[in-house]
Amino acid sequence: MIPAAATLDEIATVPALLAYWTAQDRTAMAARFHEQAMTYGDLSEAVETLSSALIAAGIKHGDRVAVLVPPSIDFYVSYLATVSVGAIWLGLNPKHTAEELAYVINDADPKLILFQSEIRGRAFSETINEIARSNELRPLVVEITGSGLVRSLADHISFPAAILQNAASPSDRTSVHPDDPALIVYTSGTTGDPKGALIPHRGLTRCSLIQAELLGLERPIALNNLPINHIGCVGDITTYILAGGGCVVFQEQFDPEGGLALIEKHRITAWLQVPTMFQLSFDRGRPEAYDLSSLKVIVWSGAPASRNLIERLRGLAPLIANLYGMTETVGSITYAIDEPLDIFEETVGSPPPAYCVRVGSAEDMPANDGEIGEIQVKGPMHMLGYWRRPKATAEAYTPTGWLKTGDLGRRRSDGRIELAGRLKEVFKSGGYNVYPREVERCLEDCDGVSMAVVVPVRDEMFFEVGHAFVLPKSNDAPNEQTVMDFCRSKLANYKVPKKVTIDPDLPMLPIGKLDRKALKKRAAEQQP
Ligand code: AMP
Repeated sequence: MIPAAATLDEIATVPALLAYWTAQDRTAMAARFHEQAMTYGDLSEAVETLSSALIAAGIKHGDRVAVLVPPSIDFYVSYLATVSVGAIWLGLNPKHTAEELAYVINDADPKLILFQSEIRGRAFSETINEIARSNELRPLVVEITGSGLVRSLADHISFPAAILQNAASPSDRTSVHPDDPALIVYTSGTTGDPKGALIPHRGLTRCSLIQAELLGLERPIALNNLPINHIGCVGDITTYILAGGGCVVFQEQFDPEGGLALIEKHRITAWLQVPTMFQLSFDRGRPEAYDLSSLKVIVWSGAPASRNLIERLRGLAPLIANLYGMTETVGSITYAIDEPLDIFEETVGSPPPAYCVRVGSAEDMPANDGEIGEIQVKGPMHMLGYWRRPKATAEAYTPTGWLKTGDLGRRRSDGRIELAGRLKEVFKSGGYNVYPREVERCLEDCDGVSMAVVVPVRDEMFFEVGHAFVLPKSNDAPNEQTVMDFCRSKLANYKVPKKVTIDPDLPMLPIGKLDRKALKKRAAEQQP
């Protein structure tokens, strides 16, 4: 653990974390992916080389670097190298459609796009090159070939690898400030337009150091199989492990049995996932076939876990914990660690002393204990705002500067917070946020659809899934399969509604909008 003397303000940038642990022990293991293994010494060298190459490629402080790779060592090195030259790293999700990728790339305007040509059988070269060609800034596009990340970039900017070592003398590097943005993480509001939350170095380091201290593991070893465009992958797992001087074991994508095999093989000590992933690991992964005795901490986050699931997790590790936070808060803002079952079920624990978290009233004041209000946070570690969206940024805060989470909750007299539903309509499917308006807009683009509403319904496996109600155009109503297929061609799978009801007599509000509340009730009544 980083000694208390190295306070949150002393190690307040991501490269400072890497430098600290490399200085402690260069031979300690930092990352694994398939047969690749990197010590802290190896990782620092790879980061140094790639950051020199980035500078040689013209990447400057504040430029965006977009990366499309699975959770892997390439992800880790690209993230650390980008932020160590003061540029802003952006993760892309291979599950996203060409349209979704184009939206994010065109919004962030990266100067460089690094991508793996094929991920899970999908080829990306044409899509990424096409997007880059139509982007006004014409980003440099680099396909990562078999020769690796650095070599691929070097080949592209056509200078010999030897130059890389000297390409960036220390004076070429602008220093990185704790309040500089390190990442852009795209997230959507109720309007469905994804917005890029700017995540500062200080937020990543502070939240991760606090998490490392609270979970209390010496050099933790964690499984990381979350998509790289999610804060969970970059912040809650990777930077947390870096803050504790530990090792990240990457897995290309979540796979219920493969994850268990990695826990056994690498003696993983920290297992952090969303509840749906744990449930799938137990239901489909044959947990009894693997030795999971190395596990010391299990953490769920992103959605509530059922009593049954919590009981199973408790049987697997000496310490279990429920962490609550969101992209914009950077890390978790409340912690429930080693609590009785009822507390785990009812609450998300309480904020650590370093965080300012309140339940806010409609008058921009703290609500009384027991009263429902919006959970809000203040302090230097949360997002800096939304990329190029001053209006949305202003709307994200109360007049007195509290960041609004959009989650409703109440503070109990014991200081713990109970979640009480969503202020917004966003729902969670398998750990992902689904923004109904985005899906509705897609449905409304389908031939024969006049209007659509998507509401969440409870689901054993995914926690919530979408049920779409579609008002057809009078003459050429599509069938349910056509609508589903259309969504599948436009949206990532977790956004596609699992049920579609086409009905010309859907309940309407007087102003001509579909009645979302009535449809939510109808969907719940139709649940088996
Ligand atoms: P994201 O920005 O994708 O990380 O999603 C954040 C949202 O997930 C929060 O606003 C909450 O609504 C929900 N969430 C996060 N952690 C928890 C948790 N431990 N229990 C219940 N819901 C959670």
